[in-house]
Parts: sequence; C-alpha cells; structure tokens
Amino acid sequence: MMYHRLRVTRVIEETPDAHSLVLSVPPDLAPTFAYRPGQYLTLRVPHSHGIAARCYSLSSSPYTETDLKITVKRVPDGPASNWICDHIRVGAALELMPPAGTFTPASLDDDLLLLAGGSGITPVMSIIKAVLAGGRGRLALVYANRDQGSVIFAAELAALSEQHRDRLSVIHWLDSERGTPEPATLATLITPWAGREAYVCGPAPFVAVAHDTLQRAGVPANRIRVERFEVEERRSADDRDATLEVELDGQTHRLPWPAGARLLDVLIAAGLNAPFSCRQGHCGACACRLLDGQVDLVHNEILEEEDFAEGYTLACQAVARSEQVSVTYY
Ligand SMILES: Cc1cc2nc3c(=O)[nH]c(=O)nc-3n(C[C@H](O)[C@H](O)[C@H](O)COP(=O)(O)OP(=O)(O)OC[C@H]3O[C@@H](n4cnc5c(N)ncnc54)[C@H](O)[C@@H]3O)c2cc1C
Repeated sequence: MMYHRLRVTRVIEETPDAHSLVLSVPPDLAPTFAYRPGQYLTLRVPHSHGIAARCYSLSSSPYTETDLKITVKRVPDGPASNWICDHIRVGAALELMPPAGTFTPASLDDDLLLLAGGSGITPVMSIIKAVLAGGRGRLALVYANRDQGSVIFAAELAALSEQHRDRLSVIHWLDSERGTPEPATLATLITPWAGREAYVCGPAPFVAVAHDTLQRAGVPANRIRVERFEVEERRSADDRDATLEVELDGQTHRLPWPAGARLLDVLIAAGLNAPFSCRQGHCGACACRLLDGQVDLVHNEILEEEDFAEGYTLACQAVARSEQVSVTYY
C-alpha cells in the first residue's frame, strides 16, 4: 500500500493564509517516513474529478523534531490548499505517501545560500534547522514575501538567527516596502555569498527572478538547486478525455484519463503504486513505455531522441493526445 494514514496532532495558524499540520508517525511506520531535510510528502485530497494528489514539503527537520510537519499556504481558488486550510483539524487522518524528492543538501557541513519566496520557505526551513542542529554549515537566507503579515516562520527565524548569529543570516524582502524583487537589486544583496551552493524554492515567478539573480551574481548553473512549487500548467485545444490501460505491479488496469491530467496523477488518484521522484520532468524516476496511442510531454529535461524511439515517456509530464493510451512499467 503506497498511501499511509497519519493523524494530525496539531494545527498551527502560521499566518492568515498558511497552516502547518503536525503529523505523528506510529512506530511501525517510522522507517517508511524517515526523511532528509528538504523532502516532501504527497497527500491525497478530494477534487472535482474524485481524488487528486498534491506535494507538500516538510517544514520539520529530522534533526530537531520527531513528528512530521507540513505547511500549506492557500493559493487563490486552489482546491487542495483551501480544502486543507478550511477542513483539516486536530484528529483528522491524512493519506500520505512516504517522503520523496532531491532538494536536499549533500552535506550539512556545507555553507549554503538559500532563496525562498512565500510558501517556498517550507523545505528551506527544514534545511536550516537540520544544518544548524546536525552540521557545521553557515547559511544565508533571502526570504521574499508580499508583506510582513505573510512571513511564515518569522518568529522562529528571528530566534534561530539570534541563537546562531555567526552561522545564520536572514534578509527579508518585503514587496510592500521594496516592490517586487528585481534581479539587479537582489544580485547586489547576495554578492557576499555568491561562492556558495544555492537552494531556491517558491512559486514560478519567484524562481525565475532568483535564477536570474544567481546567474548575474556569477553562481554557476551546476551550483543552483531549484524546487518549483507550481506544476507547469499547459492547457491545449488538443487535450482530450482518454482511456488508459497500464501494466504495473503484475496487473493491467483500465482507467479514465481526464483531458489535461498528467498520467502520474491519474495513477496516484487510482491508488496505484507508480514510481516517481521530482515530478518536474528532470529525474526520469517515473519513466514508463508507451505501447499504444499518443501522449505529449508538458516538460522534459531527461529523455532524448533515442529514449522516445524506444517508446519511453515521463508519467509526471504526459497528457493524453489519443482516445486510447496504453503504457507499461516493464
Ligand atoms: C515538490 C513540491 C513541494 C510543494 N510544497 C509545498 C509546500 O510546502 N507548501 C505549499 O503551500 N505548497 C507546496 N507545493 C504546492 C502544492 O503542491 C499545490 O500545488 C498548491 O497547494 C496548490 O494546490 P491547489 O489544489 O490548491 O491549487 P491548483 O489547482 O493546483 O493550483 C492553482 C493555481 O495556482 C498555481 N500554484 C500552485 N502552487 C502555487 C504556489 N505555491 N504559489 C502560487 N501559485 C501556485 C498553479 O500553477 C495553478 O495555476 C509544492 C509543490 C511541489 C511540486
């Protein structure tokens, strides 16, 4: 069983539109839910087409807390984030997949430059707590928000930087005071730490600005690690409802595949144990082979012409382009 039920033991209203949920892990599930700082959990939530899956980064750290914590910020009109903030209370049981993801430092002794926008602070907070408690690395955080009221973890960050003055520098960027961040201004701010490996997390517009900033400051591309919170949307006139046949774990399943939905989301919503990791078309963990029909990939940074020639595709990025699609994980 890929999903496990964990109980919410605490709900923390971090800001008017962000809630943290603390989840306790029963002892028999502790090995399954062991995680590295910066990883995320996938949560099943009700959706207009039945069930959907959404990822939430852990804001807790394995070095400082025994319970798990995720922090969810409302996205305007977003079904999952608003459902969680409106309905999840202490005692609720959530269906979650074990931790996944690669936005995690190789060593807690490395010095890092961290750039977070809004809810993008969640995995960054996990990394900060882990490095300060479990390593020797020094950290500089640039944290952008609309205004003071939307700064998640403001008090916790102030306490940590007070306690670790020589190891943690926090610079807040508030749009209400300085306008939206511009690469030229941000580049000047981060210059003292441009020699460090950089970790960037947040919604797409922030990630784009942060990336540009780091390039201007001379941080090489291979020293920039990014976690994007927005799965790239691409609605197309070619989107169509399809029927999916999938061979996985020794069984063949037939499933409805709604127009515009990603293959991986269809499999997860049906409770199937399909492999994946980054969900952003970078890592290839979700690769499967197309036996029949057509799909389009919204984003692809890993498969090459010869992979397509052998029928490979990425479940996390595939949308249906024919009425029948058949794939296999063998
Ligand atoms: C690896 C990963 C980790 C994530 N971790 C967190 C986390 O720790 N906390 C958290 O609140 N969210 C996190 N997210 C985003 C989360 O999975 C959902 O996408 C988000 O809650 C919106 O879901 P929804 O159903 O409410 O809205 P959707 O219908 O999925 O989205 C509505 C619209 O908002 C855009 N959108 C999605 N996420 C954001 C965002 N964060 N900011 C601005 N616009 C957005 C979408 O592109 C879409 O256009 C993470 C996403 C990924 C891929």
